[in-house]
Amino acid sequence: MTQSPDCPFCRIVAGQVLATIVYKDDLVTAFRDINPQAPTHILLVPNHHVAGMNEFAEGDANALTAILLAAREIARKEGIADSGYRLVANQGRDAGQSVFHLHFHLLGGRRMKWPPG
Ligand code: 5GP
Ligand code: ZN
Repeated sequence: MTQSPDCPFCRIVAGQVLATIVYKDDLVTAFRDINPQAPTHILLVPNHHVAGMNEFAEGDANALTAILLAAREIARKEGIADSGYRLVANQGRDAGQSVFHLHFHLLGGRRMKWPPG
């Protein structure tokens, strides 16, 4: 499994940093955001290091599909499948990306605005 030294999300995947993990399989790990912006705020990451949307390759397709399937299942378990939720990845400076290990935010449990600020 490819890891990047000093990457906080690689450390969470490896179990070297504590997080509230809500789902894990061979390809994806999902854990609660440390600074939640909604009643449900979960991050889904590929288990191997990919810096962001600009970096993933065709070989990452299975992990990306696994993330979508896991997000849908987690939304159901969190009780927000019917009320609605948002799945979003921030890429780069203008989107405010602050951790450079590809992650999708699963947000729900409150009414959200569109477009996001
Ligand atoms: P970004 O701004 O890169 O799209 O999102 C990074 C997210 O990771 C933020 O919402 C931030 O609160 C969360 N985060 C950063 N470091 C940690 C950590 O060590 N543990 C957890 N659980 N979340 C983190
Ligand atoms: Zn990483």
